Amino acid sequence: MVSESLLEVAKNFHGHVCPYLVLGLRASEIAFGRLGISRVGVAETIKEDIVAIVESNNCFADGVQVFTHCTLGNNSLIYLDVGKTALTVFRRGERRGVRVYVLSEKVRELLPPEVGELWRRVVAERRGSREDAERLHEAFEKLGREMLNLPEDFFKISEVEIVEELERAPIFESVRCESCGELVMKPRAVYVNGKAYCPACAGVPVQAVVGRGISTVKVPFREVR
Ligand SMILES: [Zn+2]
Ligand SMILES: [Zn+2]
Repeated sequence: MVSESLLEVAKNFHGHVCPYLVLGLRASEIAFGRLGISRVGVAETIKEDIVAIVESNNCFADGVQVFTHCTLGNNSLIYLDVGKTALTVFRRGERRGVRVYVLSEKVRELLPPEVGELWRRVVAERRGSREDAERLHEAFEKLGREMLNLPEDFFKISEVEIVEELERAPIFESVRCESCGELVMKPRAVYVNGKAYCPACAGVPVQAVVGRGISTVKVPFREVR
């Protein structure tokens, strides 16, 4: 069972409690349990020994990061733009891992109809009032606490074979952009007439994780001089 105190940590990180945040915590707990991992500490996070893979960028991914300590920043979280709510955990160097997929239709049945209605108004249609959002959060907190020990049959749990070795984060040298003077990772630099520029100054599109997943975007800001 996921502890109430960890839910508090997750709430502080994510900003609110919601069912998918708790599902991320609970799915992580199930995966760690199956793999016999008790906790991920200093050494594992620095060496990227344990890897967590999520398949979409939703609230679930934050629950995963809080529980597993595999995060975007320590390069132990891999975001696969597959579009499913699922978590896979494995140890580097081992051929087997565990994948936990959320049975969302079954989870949805836990949602009282009036909460579903409120969710549609506030989240899906973005037209609820501030009070609606707060009422929704109250309902979500209550539901979230009830889900800390959600039975395993709300998930599809499978053993997976690791068929592709994912590289650890490489260390890149930096080069200086001729235009803004900032350092940029060498593989991101754009060379024009033999001079290095950052993608922002070169005006070339970059890959970004945005609400809809991984997309190609232009750098959406410009320094005010
Ligand atoms: Zn959320
Ligand atoms: Zn630049």
